Amino acid sequence: MSRTYPLSPMSDRFIFTRYRTDCYHCKENADQIIKAVPYQAQVACDNCGATRVYIPRIEDVSKEGTFTKIGCYDLWQLVETAPCRNCHLTGLHDLTIGCRHFTVRCRNCGFTHFYKFDLEYIAKDELKDQT
Ligand SMILES: [Zn+2]
Ligand SMILES: [Zn+2]
Repeated sequence: MSRTYPLSPMSDRFIFTRYRTDCYHCKENADQIIKAVPYQAQVACDNCGATRVYIPRIEDVSKEGTFTKIGCYDLWQLVETAPCRNCHLTGLHDLTIGCRHFTVRCRNCGFTHFYKFDLEYIAKDELKDQT
């Protein structure tokens, strides 16, 4: 059952998008920058820098909703175009982001990346001066 992923660094970018919502940390309506690569997923607030890091736990072909659990606040449900590592089609992926989990699922083949919440930090250094 070993699979190889011939990924070059250029194709490391899997999902990169923004979602505007109320930040759980600064409570402002701000862009949340969403990034996912095969080995990590991140959500960072554009306003205050609050960043949540998720690490991969499972990758599998699953039925829709298999990994969706009720989180501590509203789930974000987004649709993004991304290259699938399983069926190699660039097509629609469903993103489901909660406070404890982050899933990306290929609509074509059902291949799902399940990331679980790992840690949280405030990325002040990465922010521009906001004065
Ligand atoms: Zn914030
Ligand atoms: Zn696929």
